[in-house]
Amino acid sequence: MTDYANVGTTTPSSGRMLSDMEDVHEDHEQPHPIEEEQEEPEEEEGVMLALDSPQIQAALEACKILVIGAGGLGCEILKNLALTGFKEIHVIDMDTIDLSNLNRQFLFRPKDVGQPKATVAAEFVMQRVPGVKIVPYFGKIQDKDDEYYSQFQIVICGLDSIEARRWINAKLVEMIDEEDPQSLKPLIDGGTEGFKGQARVILPTINSCYECSLDMFNKPTTFPICTIANTPRLPEHCIEWASVLEWPRVWGKDTKYDTDNPEHISWLYRTATERAEKFNISGVTYSLTQGVVKNIIPAIASTNAIIAASCCNEVFKIATGSPYLDNYMMYTGNDGIYTYTFQHQKKPECPVCGQIAASAELDREMSLEDLIESLKERPDVQLKRPSLRTASKSLYMQAPPALEEATRPNLEKKLEDLIEAGEYITVTDVALPVSIQLKVSWKE
Ligand SMILES: [Zn+2]
Repeated sequence: MTDYANVGTTTPSSGRMLSDMEDVHEDHEQPHPIEEEQEEPEEEEGVMLALDSPQIQAALEACKILVIGAGGLGCEILKNLALTGFKEIHVIDMDTIDLSNLNRQFLFRPKDVGQPKATVAAEFVMQRVPGVKIVPYFGKIQDKDDEYYSQFQIVICGLDSIEARRWINAKLVEMIDEEDPQSLKPLIDGGTEGFKGQARVILPTINSCYECSLDMFNKPTTFPICTIANTPRLPEHCIEWASVLEWPRVWGKDTKYDTDNPEHISWLYRTATERAEKFNISGVTYSLTQGVVKNIIPAIASTNAIIAASCCNEVFKIATGSPYLDNYMMYTGNDGIYTYTFQHQKKPECPVCGQIAASAELDREMSLEDLIESLKERPDVQLKRPSLRTASKSLYMQAPPALEEATRPNLEKKLEDLIEAGEYITVTDVALPVSIQLKVSWKE
């Protein structure tokens, strides 16, 4: 393996091709009649070796890769890596195959429905590509420990879950041992959403990590309630009106619709259609209704293929010591095809890889409950059920129940009655792989 810690972290062109190390001394002509000291031939820049050259083969064989996810991106990634010539690949996925996967997750057949994705994908690729060993694990990434992760040289993710990405990102940062260069595992992360996608190379603690860029990923689209109620312009607004306002009005606040119940979806569809007709809006369909209420983002096979290809190229480049992506490529296929590559910056106050605590300028009159609500709104941390404490006391704890009950009265209290300026608040949350430290100051 090349020492990737020294390669391409500042400019994409600072890495060296494996060909630089190629032995070009063989096969020389007859010795010169006059004895002359043979000079070393100049290293040739930019010469690429054939994929089946012994040097490339050795580099690929020496590289054990972990693929996380065996779904839309994962099938593509496993196929690409195996066909590139990597010999040992492990794959983790906790899902089983669903009928609706078959249109794009091409390693699966109707007979495989209900089977674990990781196992079926591994067997399929091993049958088609002789000489590759794929070790599946049907379960969660959280089941595995540091020892397991430390056996790999590169980790590549094709996931649709932000939570799993946050977890593996934090795990790889946590595993860094500054004394041991082998502890640095490059993380190649691919993601797609409809016609959009991104591929990125994360070198834990060296460049921007997944957590550093969390604010780039928006929460699922939501529409302002006033637009839904008063000035709908899109079919989605009418569907939201039916599901958010009309359903509870007609069926009561406590009766939640079931997104898997066709009668409920039909009711929402009819109600949204009436609304749309009133405002001259077209485009409300049954499947759009289902898509909006279930928050379904269509998965598109070609986007997966493009992003997986890009990710696998980066794996290949890192494995063979070539210059690689620094560090973020986004792909937009909505209107034509557009890609943009940039260097996403590390966030100094990143809770996972940063060095400094984030500061929070707070209104001293604000209640603790409002602070918790405002934390949930922040796109850079994306919390679900935050618990807050200071060095000396628990401010509000979501669990266990006894502690929740004991700290609940604090929710109504003003911040100035609970915390002092300069104190640190520690925030923990189910969605957070680590805790966040907030240094408190008061707004003037
Ligand atoms: Zn970070």
